[in-house]
Amino acid sequence: ASKAEGQNRLHRFEPGLLLVRRLRSQLVEDLRAAIRNDGLMLYYQPVVDLVSGRLEGVEALVRWNHPTRGFIMPDEFIPLAEEAGLISELGNWVLRTAVQQLRAWIDDSLVDGDFSVRINISATDLQSLQFIEDVRNVLRDTGVKPDQVVLELTEVAIVKGNELDRYSLAGLRGLGVGIEIDDFGTGYSSISYLRRLPVDRVKVDRSLISGLGTDPGQPALVAAVLQLVRACGLEAVWEGVETAEQADILRELGCLSAQGYYFSRPVPPDDIPALLADQQESAHRQP
Ligand code: C2E
Ligand code: MG
Ligand code: MG
Ligand code: MG
Repeated sequence: ASKAEGQNRLHRFEPGLLLVRRLRSQLVEDLRAAIRNDGLMLYYQPVVDLVSGRLEGVEALVRWNHPTRGFIMPDEFIPLAEEAGLISELGNWVLRTAVQQLRAWIDDSLVDGDFSVRINISATDLQSLQFIEDVRNVLRDTGVKPDQVVLELTEVAIVKGNELDRYSLAGLRGLGVGIEIDDFGTGYSSISYLRRLPVDRVKVDRSLISGLGTDPGQPALVAAVLQLVRACGLEAVWEGVETAEQADILRELGCLSAQGYYFSRPVPPDDIPALLADQQESAHRQP
């Protein structure tokens, strides 16, 4: 195509772009309002002990219930929040809401002292020293034990991170909260960094287990990753388990913890008591 054609094309699309920009700034305003006026919700997805079937904890996953557009998923609005400078406010809301929810479950004797809540934090949160203060304040205000709070950070956020990020990571670690690398296997996966970072666990991305049960070569790969993670002194959580067969293979390979639609989809907080009750029942049924 000639240069002139290209320019024409651009010209034709301009009104559309303007519309997109207007919609986008409206959406940013809506998001700002949602963060401040309870328009966001946290759903919770169980992390399961593969051997006992018990719930080790839950991961908090944010949803936006938009007044006219309905439910919007985080992959769509987290990037928007990042670009619009709203991510710190959002991150703080998620942190506070999730830890307060854990406090409520503890107070209702639904969970005990080793049940954890996992919270996804953005690279921007990690870069802000205010975030460490926020974590410290939330722990103080709720009286929740720091080791019952686990922060999930993506590999990219951690590895791309500069000295300040390392400092923040150490600062968060210093508060006693757990740190987990999320989506492990999708980013850099440089093996050497795994040993140096102040983290406790890695959550292996679901792309690594999606072939379990169909691809005969996949179990060996999972075993190798498990060995690698353990050689670095860490433990692995396996996300995206969708079938009983996948859960069985993971268990046979010696994996300890997993998460996925097979165990439970992310659910609103009111559904968690029933899941905890189910777990107790099935634990009783076991020999
Ligand atoms: P993530 O932290 O890796 O979360 C796992 C995602 O996989 C969730 O999507 C979850 O619903 C989905 N999932 C769980 N089990 C299965 C399964 O068996 N199969 C399949 N296909 N998917 C499964 P969700 O809730 O849409 O979240 C997407 C991403 O958005 C998260 O990925 C996380 O990076 C980000 N996110 C979610 N909540 C927050 C938050 O509060 N703060 C920040 N900064 N990011 C968040
Ligand atoms: Mg996560
Ligand atoms: Mg993940
Ligand atoms: Mg993800």
